[in-house]
Amino acid sequence: MKKYLVVVLGIAMLMVIAMCASTLYQSYRQTRLAAVDNAGNVTLIAQRAISRNMEVLSLSLDTLAYRYQHPLGAGRLNDAQRYAYLFGSTANVSHISVMAIIDAHGRVQASSRRRQGDAAPNYADRAYFTVHRDSANAGLYVSKPILANLPNLGNDVRVVVLSKRLFNDDGSFGGIVVMALNLSYFRELFEGLSLGADGVISLYSDDGVAYMRIPYSEQIIGRDLSGSSNFQRIQSALRHEEGSFFARANSDGVERLYTFRRIPDSPLIVFVGYAEQAIFKNWRKTLYAVIISLFIFALLLAYLLSHVRQELRRRVAIERRLEELAQTDGLTGLLNRRALDEALQATWERCRRNFNSTFSVLFIDVDYFKPYNDTYGHKFGDGVLQEVAKTISDNLPRQTDCAGRYGGEEFVVLLELTDTEGARLMAQRLCDAVYSRLIVHASSPLRVVTISVGVATLQRAHHHRVEDVLNAADAALYRAKRDGRNAVRVSTVD
Ligand code: GH3
Ligand code: MG
Ligand code: MG
Repeated sequence: MKKYLVVVLGIAMLMVIAMCASTLYQSYRQTRLAAVDNAGNVTLIAQRAISRNMEVLSLSLDTLAYRYQHPLGAGRLNDAQRYAYLFGSTANVSHISVMAIIDAHGRVQASSRRRQGDAAPNYADRAYFTVHRDSANAGLYVSKPILANLPNLGNDVRVVVLSKRLFNDDGSFGGIVVMALNLSYFRELFEGLSLGADGVISLYSDDGVAYMRIPYSEQIIGRDLSGSSNFQRIQSALRHEEGSFFARANSDGVERLYTFRRIPDSPLIVFVGYAEQAIFKNWRKTLYAVIISLFIFALLLAYLLSHVRQELRRRVAIERRLEELAQTDGLTGLLNRRALDEALQATWERCRRNFNSTFSVLFIDVDYFKPYNDTYGHKFGDGVLQEVAKTISDNLPRQTDCAGRYGGEEFVVLLELTDTEGARLMAQRLCDAVYSRLIVHASSPLRVVTISVGVATLQRAHHHRVEDVLNAADAALYRAKRDGRNAVRVSTVD
């Protein structure tokens, strides 16, 4: 019953844990998917904004190239008119630091920011120049971040240079149109986005150069991170147009979910990173709440179990006690008549099945007990019976020996696996033990309380029921009485 209860409660506990684990796992997956979706959307918006702007800037370069190659008024315009024709309002767009025409030799032919006095440097060695000189199909070239020195804007302005090739009529290289886009454009675009605690948004080229990163860090712009272990690890993911992955950033050690998208027709990739801590913050709270609840539940269950076990133990003890009481003689504490009969019957059955087994019984009767009662009263008589019973049980060494009150002042001792000689010795021992208690009995010729004992051992040829053995012992007891009492007599069956 106890085991059954423990198993049932154990299974219930396991089921509760399994259900909680499955629910938590589902909510973990959903949280993760929602975060991937969310970051993917932000990435898409940023990518589209940059892409559209790139298209507009590319068109502006085309317009500049066209106007340069198709001058108005066959050279009769003055400088201001020519400037306005070439650059128009584009030159005033806030993030465009400069626009210029550079001829096939690297010399500036026209610039939205003219230098006063000093001669403009030659740009023939710049990557945004050589790429078009060496290839007619370079399209829109996007440079690495550059620290530019621009008139009126100051030194060390962080820009990215966009350039396109100019074609002569015969298709040969005719120079380039260039534009310097201030990196603050990306910074302002990104800074308005809310990305949660430790969230980042950044722009990299596919070979690992940082163009922008929010939270903004001056040092990281222009740095080549292609050698970092993190970049190498995610490079296979970057072969795709878009994707997502979890990674720990080298720069700040924060684990993030990154989603990325390529800007079409450019080497740029925009990344959005949500901190793993922020994504799973609420989920973790639920996790801790569930763990604490489960812990409390387990404690309650354990308390309940121990309570039930205690109760069961108490009941078993009561039942055992009741059983003992049902078998015990109230006055002497020995087996009562019913339990004695059952023990005798059980021993008889055992010996019937096993021919090598045997048993003996001692029939014990207190001598001159009626005169004792008459002399000292019934109450003292009861005391004598208790003393005699205690003396008997104290002198039964084996576990298998048992003694019971047969009735009145008569006792029976059952000695399992004991032959006649052993039983006779036991009987004599009990007789001597009672005598040596020296309980005064003035009405007895022996002056002290004594017992007489009849001994009988199972004789298979003569005994057909357990009562036959008892009767034999009773007959031997009768002889002990007749021969003067305080004596032992053994049944002899001829
Ligand atoms: P003998 O030596 O031949 O055995 O003589 P006896 O007087 O012992 O034999 P008898 O059978 O005549 O007396 C038994 C007495 O035991 C009778 C009864 O008063 C007494 N007796 C029986 N049961 C109890 C008991 O539970 N308490 C007390 N105090 N006396 C009991
Ligand atoms: Mg008697
Ligand atoms: Mg008697």
